[in-house]
Amino acid sequence: MSIRQSTRPAGGTSRPDKHDPGTVAEDTWFVHGGNQADDTTGAIRTPIVMANSYQLPEDPTTLDDPDYGGLVYTREHGANQLGLERKLAALDHGEAAAVFGTGMAALHAAFFTLLNPGDHAIVSNVTYMRVWGLFDSLLPAKLGIEVAFVDITDLAAVQAAVRPNTRLVHTEVIANPDVRVADIAALADIAHAAGARLTVDSTFTPPPMFRPLDHAADLTLHSLTKYFNGHGDAMGGVVIGAADLVEDIRAGALWHVGGAISPFNAWLIMRGAITLPLRLERHCDNAQAIAEFLAVDPRVAHVAYPGLANDPHHERATAQLAGGAGGVVSFAIAGSHEDRVKFVNDLRVITSAVSLGHDETLIVYENYPEARAAAFDTPFRDHGLIRLAVGLEEADDLIADLDAALTTAYGPAR
Ligand SMILES: *Cc1c(COP(=O)(O)O)cnc(C)c1O
Repeated sequence: MSIRQSTRPAGGTSRPDKHDPGTVAEDTWFVHGGNQADDTTGAIRTPIVMANSYQLPEDPTTLDDPDYGGLVYTREHGANQLGLERKLAALDHGEAAAVFGTGMAALHAAFFTLLNPGDHAIVSNVTYMRVWGLFDSLLPAKLGIEVAFVDITDLAAVQAAVRPNTRLVHTEVIANPDVRVADIAALADIAHAAGARLTVDSTFTPPPMFRPLDHAADLTLHSLTKYFNGHGDAMGGVVIGAADLVEDIRAGALWHVGGAISPFNAWLIMRGAITLPLRLERHCDNAQAIAEFLAVDPRVAHVAYPGLANDPHHERATAQLAGGAGGVVSFAIAGSHEDRVKFVNDLRVITSAVSLGHDETLIVYENYPEARAAAFDTPFRDHGLIRLAVGLEEADDLIADLDAALTTAYGPAR
């Protein structure tokens, strides 16, 4: 099934309408969804309005009236933030969105808003490293938050971690970096029965591949720096969900803590979002081909990719995700630390650099500190983890590059 066509109404008889996602294919919706002509110029795409100050109402003391709809100051709103928020809410089936300067600013804003001192959070024990750091040290130390790290794929363990003061369950759909897959609807049931909220970092699974809000999550979060922008040249983050919750996050954590996105970055990300379905299909197809190559290579000790039929997370991935299993393949190669360094440095197409969702393929070889590594499968504990963020190049070039560098480090496959 193609990612890009996956929600086209079957045998639809209605006339396609760019304002109604139920009548058009995903590709069409990503081009048009959430767009609005500019009020002052008539430009069909939101023009860039750099940081600015806006004319106050006739009676400036009415500014704090919650019904005042005008723009005031760029930390709080601006044309490009609003345009991007409208588009992202439309693409991810949310009522409202608030955009931030980075993915971490958005994640922090959600946690800061949802958690109070003494509250308990259940957090996946494998998440993006800075999220892990927030829950491992900063939120407990600064705000008195209690945290249980659990294997989020073990629903019995998640249920067993619930306490009377549990207010939050947080997970990634496909986890950074070991690509385990969470069952979002089942986690939403556990969270809601406990009186808690489920926040889902869907950075590895952007729409139209997956939409956490359609599976009963309370908030969807993305690092827009990754697949949405798609070119590795702008940072941003977003929270998407019910309007009242998003407005709480905006009025609390965005206005008071800051973390606003720059208008230019918002504009770049809005532009990138249009081609997301086309790029995502290529990322997924390339990653699948590379995972299949690595899985049968005797020099590779372990491959984690939920698109592989024998991956322990394959069933949960195919049940939830449309059109592929994402663009990240994690693997381990045996031998010594020096062999692995030699492998990474011998690559001639793939770049050794952090981040993902770029046009170019990026690789990171990491050894985790013991406290964190304990959550990972044994091959990653023994050999470190190599995270390959597959880009848009031709898959055969990437596979040939990996094969040649493995040969440099380990000799030929046979
Ligand atoms: C990169 C990343 C983040 C952080 O986003 P930034 O835009 O770099 O702040 C959060 N979650 C996941 C899963 C990520 O990969």
